Amino acid sequence: MTIFQMILDRKIPADIVYEDEHAIAFRDINPQAPTHILVIPRRAISGVSSASPSDAALLGHLLIAAAEIARQEGIAGSGYRLVINDGNHGGQSVNHVHVHLLGGRMLGWPPG
Ligand code: AMP
Repeated sequence: MTIFQMILDRKIPADIVYEDEHAIAFRDINPQAPTHILVIPRRAISGVSSASPSDAALLGHLLIAAAEIARQEGIAGSGYRLVINDGNHGGQSVNHVHVHLLGGRMLGWPPG
């Protein structure tokens, strides 16, 4: 079981900022920006690389939810970044697909 599944099951606490039928979002425990929120599906998919066409609506839903959360957090006007890490070189550490919502400061590009 992943740490995110434990958050979904309320077995460990998290600072949850958004919930709907298909997704929840909570603050990253090790924030890399003033706003750093993780948006995850309730249904576990290990990563984008293991998603199938039948997951398309759910993955799209995460982006729409992230944009709504950005508005809620007051960073939609200044801008923000959505990131999905996949696999080892992508820096993925939790195998439950998630969208990082980062904002509240100027973000550098490209990532190191
Ligand atoms: P990734 O490296 O893309 O898989 O992102 C995993 C993210 O989960 C990292 O940014 C971690 O800081 C974050 N994280 C790990 N455990 C927790 C937790 N218990 N609550 C909130 N965020 C977490």
